[in-house]
Amino acid sequence: MRFKNIFNLLNTLFSILKRFLGNREVLANFKEIENRLQTCRLCEFKIGDTLKNMKCKKCECMVRYKVRLAESYCPEGKWDATDS
Ligand code: SF4
Repeated sequence: MRFKNIFNLLNTLFSILKRFLGNREVLANFKEIENRLQTCRLCEFKIGDTLKNMKCKKCECMVRYKVRLAESYCPEGKWDATDS
């Protein structure tokens, strides 16, 4: 596992904990997930053709997990974290 992956993982875990303790939604809602996925599917930084192996070249995250977390955001500014 590379340094960038470890940093992303720790950052994500911290964000989840922060949301949980702040009584905010940890997971994005279904519509949000679908919109994010659609954007990633059409993105030039996407690697892989199936949901199972789709990865983001910019942050090196697995897209299928990344889009589900409310706190996630696109490193290219194509979609944001949810407010709830
Ligand atoms: S997170 Fe952003 S940069 Fe990465 S694949 Fe999705 S839309 Fe592209």
